[in-house]
Amino acid sequence: MNRNRKPTLSDVRESILSYFLTYAYRPIWIGQIAIVVGRSCEEAEAFLDELAEAGDIRSQTSDGIKTYRLVTALKKTALRERLGVPGVMPAILPAFWSPMGIIILIDVDEVLADFQGAAFDVIARVTGRRHSREECKQWEMFGQFLQPEERKPVFAEIRKPGFCSALSPLPGAQEGVKRLQELGEVYAVTSPFRSEPWVHERTKWLEDHFGIQESNVVFTSAKFLVTGDVLLDDRPDHILKWEAKHPHGHGLLWHLPNTAGQHDDIDRVHTWDEVIRRVRRIVRIRRRDRELEEECQRHPWAMAEILSEASGRR
Ligand SMILES: [Mg+2]
Repeated sequence: MNRNRKPTLSDVRESILSYFLTYAYRPIWIGQIAIVVGRSCEEAEAFLDELAEAGDIRSQTSDGIKTYRLVTALKKTALRERLGVPGVMPAILPAFWSPMGIIILIDVDEVLADFQGAAFDVIARVTGRRHSREECKQWEMFGQFLQPEERKPVFAEIRKPGFCSALSPLPGAQEGVKRLQELGEVYAVTSPFRSEPWVHERTKWLEDHFGIQESNVVFTSAKFLVTGDVLLDDRPDHILKWEAKHPHGHGLLWHLPNTAGQHDDIDRVHTWDEVIRRVRRIVRIRRRDRELEEECQRHPWAMAEILSEASGRR
């Protein structure tokens, strides 16, 4: 097939269809794509004008060339019906695409910082009972190990200045973060413990132990609101909510004994080597997506063929 030939109406229709099927859930990419129609292809132009009039795409003319831009309206049922698309085929959806390089979001407690170890020390001091990580049966450890009347004195200790800054980095975490920083932009996303010095101490701790600057630290319990390509967290809830909000993001559940045997539906990682392998794969996919995008932009009328070849290779 000559990829540089003049487009026909069928090329345009097929390109939009393939594009729609492949990238319907990728609003960033959709917002950037522009289909340029050759002046000789009146049929195709009329078809696109019709879509533009319906508000599904936008058109503009510059230097005598009319450009049509597909917008997020591609998700509109009306356009789907007009193009005769019954639904989206997830099997050919690319993993994700992000224009600024890969963004890796990392939880802090129990992924980078040994919060549980320090909390077990506090519990032992306050109650006289020594517990261990292996005994944890649920994500929220305090509910399992503390009587209601013991919560207040234990939390008072954890809220004291110095607790957060004295946490030890978990084995392998510093090296792991360093390797991730070579693959993308790393942000710490952490829910602050309700205590006055926590945010200040955690920010300094992340910079001192991991070289993560203040500008790359996000304090929130609503982690699903933070956009990124990967979220590494030990809490299944966070991963599930985040993946639901970011369908092209990849959630990695850091393995802890307290979540063992639960949530087989989440991608679980046990070591930093596993994390790096997953992230490297994601970087590879993204790079391939970018090449694919460039190829489609060079030959917009062969988009159907390019995407179909690519989905066959996946
Ligand atoms: Mg955590």
